[in-house]
Amino acid sequence: MPLKEILDRAFADRYGVAAFNVVNDLTLDAVIAGAEEVRSPLIVQTSVKTVKSMGAEVLYRLFRSLAEPASVPVTLHLDHCPEREVITTCLDTGWNSVLFDGSALPVDENTRQTIEVVAEARRHGAHVEGEIEGVRGVEDGIGSDEEGEIYPIDEAVAFLEATAVDCFAPAIGTAHGVYSTEPVLTPQRVSDIVARVPIPMVLHGGTGLSEAAFQDLIARGCAKVNISTAIKVSYLDSTRAFLDANPTKYDPPSLFREQHAAIQDLAERHLTIFGSAGKAW
Ligand SMILES: [Zn+2]
Repeated sequence: MPLKEILDRAFADRYGVAAFNVVNDLTLDAVIAGAEEVRSPLIVQTSVKTVKSMGAEVLYRLFRSLAEPASVPVTLHLDHCPEREVITTCLDTGWNSVLFDGSALPVDENTRQTIEVVAEARRHGAHVEGEIEGVRGVEDGIGSDEEGEIYPIDEAVAFLEATAVDCFAPAIGTAHGVYSTEPVLTPQRVSDIVARVPIPMVLHGGTGLSEAAFQDLIARGCAKVNISTAIKVSYLDSTRAFLDANPTKYDPPSLFREQHAAIQDLAERHLTIFGSAGKAW
């Protein structure tokens, strides 16, 4: 399912669709199962690191084989990608959309390259997420722990108008990873950008935000809500709990069942909080 079809409906009705970062077959199967259980559309996304470690072709075939029989709309997105060759590989292979992450570039160079990525994506019927401000925190080897530059709203509007990206990730005070202190959010930036350019916004660094913060940002126009760290935490915490409880049980499939159940439950909870449960068509 094209990303734009999923996001435009969500943006119009002001609900959020979770974009879960998957790392293998188990996490992919678990988030699809969760979306089917609560009847929600779903965005599956992959980091550049996962694309490189599994190989684009293997990852894409795995996605197709699990997503095609799913009873809810599912799309495949490439998360933060500063590397143009990886963008091209994923678009050629069949990804529905990509985030070209040019946030480390000067804005005019980012704009120039994003225009090229949008043209390339259009040739595949695919969509593009853009960003000009880096989201604080390193995720799968991409990004920085330094607070990046925040641009005036006019700069974001100019970027959106010049590039015609399909969705946009503004800096709103969130960060990748686990929060050590309560983040100071700037939700008004979402409202200000949407008032000028009404396209879906993307919320990064969602893990650890309160239910109220999620719902406020979604009401303002964040239609895509990225969840990566929470999946990793759930995966490894369920693993640790199983191994602690069963120190001499050498049966991987029973471990897989525990991991799958934990991740599916996490997916269902987020989809429900974001208001997309019951919105599948
Ligand atoms: Zn992100």
